[in-house]
Amino acid sequence: MDLQYLPGVGPKRAELLKAEIHVSTVEELLSYYPYRYVDKSKIYQIRDIHGDMPYILLKGQFTMFEEQGFGKRGQRYKGLFTDGTGVVECIWFQGLRYVKDSVMRGREYLLFGQPKLNDYSHNFTIAHPELESTEKTGVDVMQSLMGMYNTTEKMKKMFLNSKAISKLILSFFQQHIQPFPETLPAYIVEQMHLMNYNQAIRQIHFPANPDNLRKAQERLKFEELFYLELYLVRQFRLRQQANAGFVFSRIGEYFNNFYFHYLPFELTNAQKRVIKEIRADLGSGKQMNRLLQGDVGSGKTMVATLTMLIALDNGFQACLMAPTEILANQHFDNISELLAGIGVRVELLTGSTKKKKREEIHAGLRDGSVQILIGTHALIEPDVKFNNLGLVVIDEQHRFGVEQRSKLWMKNSRAPHVLVMTATPIPRTLAMTVYGDLDVSVIDELPPGRKPIQTIHRWDQQREGLIKSMRQQLAQGRQIYVVYPLIEENEKLKYHDVEQGFENMQAAFGPEYHVVMVHGRMKPKDKDAAMQRFVSGEAQIMVATTVIEVGVNVPNASVMVIESAERFGLSQLHQLRGRVGRGADQSYCVLVTGYNLSSDTRKRIEIMCDTTDGFEIAEADLQLRGPGDLEGTQQSGLAFDLHIASLARDGQLLQFARDIAKEVIEKDPMLEAPQNNILRNRLQDLFSHRLDWSRIS
Ligand code: ADP
Ligand code: MG
Repeated sequence: MDLQYLPGVGPKRAELLKAEIHVSTVEELLSYYPYRYVDKSKIYQIRDIHGDMPYILLKGQFTMFEEQGFGKRGQRYKGLFTDGTGVVECIWFQGLRYVKDSVMRGREYLLFGQPKLNDYSHNFTIAHPELESTEKTGVDVMQSLMGMYNTTEKMKKMFLNSKAISKLILSFFQQHIQPFPETLPAYIVEQMHLMNYNQAIRQIHFPANPDNLRKAQERLKFEELFYLELYLVRQFRLRQQANAGFVFSRIGEYFNNFYFHYLPFELTNAQKRVIKEIRADLGSGKQMNRLLQGDVGSGKTMVATLTMLIALDNGFQACLMAPTEILANQHFDNISELLAGIGVRVELLTGSTKKKKREEIHAGLRDGSVQILIGTHALIEPDVKFNNLGLVVIDEQHRFGVEQRSKLWMKNSRAPHVLVMTATPIPRTLAMTVYGDLDVSVIDELPPGRKPIQTIHRWDQQREGLIKSMRQQLAQGRQIYVVYPLIEENEKLKYHDVEQGFENMQAAFGPEYHVVMVHGRMKPKDKDAAMQRFVSGEAQIMVATTVIEVGVNVPNASVMVIESAERFGLSQLHQLRGRVGRGADQSYCVLVTGYNLSSDTRKRIEIMCDTTDGFEIAEADLQLRGPGDLEGTQQSGLAFDLHIASLARDGQLLQFARDIAKEVIEKDPMLEAPQNNILRNRLQDLFSHRLDWSRIS
């Protein structure tokens, strides 16, 4: 049912709800769950208020009101509220007119809000309190636990605050007294001892008591995770059935020649295991769709190279797509050097490939003489046609969306095998959900001889000491990265810090040492030139934005200084740190921050100083930020919205959900049994907006 027909909504508010919180139907409104609950059963006394209190309920009356400030912006309305034990100040910045007209002196109110200590008056202040005259008794006053709903500034301006949302839902429930139909099969509700849907959906908004709330939450979380898993498990199965893959049965000349004569180092056990897993896929007759996870520096490129050689051995072409030009260049240099001895034609195609060269490559791809193509998004262009593409490797996958990937799949009549490489360590619980329809291989071992990177936290003000230790490293012939965050808010200021940093470094270390700068606004030509000066060792210091985050490999660089480290997320810090520690020398990562750190930031810095284990960091990131923010999941194309369950907190329930989903699909793959009707229909409702990637990915 369209929301605007709900009493109290109307077209204007309906539009706002849609724009601000993506709620446009009653069903969506019902699954707009409270983000927390406050206990309204206890009325506090003002004299008991202390700092740091959550939302509390008071009962009393206003003794006076006062208008303050001038002009539209400065105006505010103040009221003093007392319950006989003390006084709090209430303050309104918006909707003054309405407040003036409707809130009366001397009338008794229930007041609900969060007290904050005012530094000047030493009184407690409550901004925009919710008020309910005690003469009216609404259900929400009696009820002990009140749901709080997220709202935006724009919504609040139209009086769509948390309470208003609650009222909308309440009025719908009051009209709709007949029970809501069950959304899970009875046998699952029974097996899991779940609260029924009708009860759960009412209790989640208006819980009668904490126990009911817990049961309602459990029921709805389970349901959400269960349908997600059911979808993923079924997609996985469909893909396995639908997509016959090219069979790479041979390990031939190219692979063996390279492996036995040109391999520059012994593979790690993890690399060997992963290659075995890949080989099994390639020979299975099913299309491979594998995610290769390996921490930065774990040697994914070598795995990709060997896999591409297997494709070549079976008469197919292979391509490798990287997210940036710098990375593509580096892969190209690296791989053509590795393969120089075995006579393989490798080409590079990027946005800056000249027209003549480009045409030459196009021709070579069509006649099959170009065996390995490395490049950027340029590979996806429609005029890039292969003779017989058998394998697609995608590096640093989180930068590509599913749509882009799918365009590569289409470049042969049958979907080529796909190997997606990512350095974003995704916790296993999450990987299984986010990539539920990909197979996952993990390189969980670094090449031997690496010394763990030492990570140090320095305050902004300790710069002198920092410069001194940098000088020591430079004197030992090492190279240094200095990374700045981009200031997103302001286009003009965006590159200010990095440019300033560049000048500072030149002042501190020039002319003895050379400093280069690399950032996104530079021309690709200049960027590459600067990069090249650093790679060749001609420049000792590189000042950069996070463009160097992925892939760049300079083993002689042993120090990574991250400026304004508080502005980076954990996984990004970890990625950046991975740029050093690639050679035999002891490497350092220095996190520079200001003094004012939130507790979350402090934790991030602590974790970085404590561990270099990518998975540990990813788990911590998941705990701190929740999965929605996890780099990679958003753009993975398999991202999904969870309304109530949390992958970070509900791991156990997720496991149950997955087990049961598997069981159901095992017994009834197409969900044709009568008791599974409900499942089939619901899957369709929930996921029909998605393309059927099982056909192409
Ligand atoms: P990533 O997984 O981050 O892409 P790379 O493939 O760039 O890592 O490898 C990092 C470095 O480690 C490269 O210089 C590579 O040559 C080297 N390397 C990879 N595998 C091994 C190995 N088994 N033994 C020694 N060095 C290796
Ligand atoms: Mg790499």
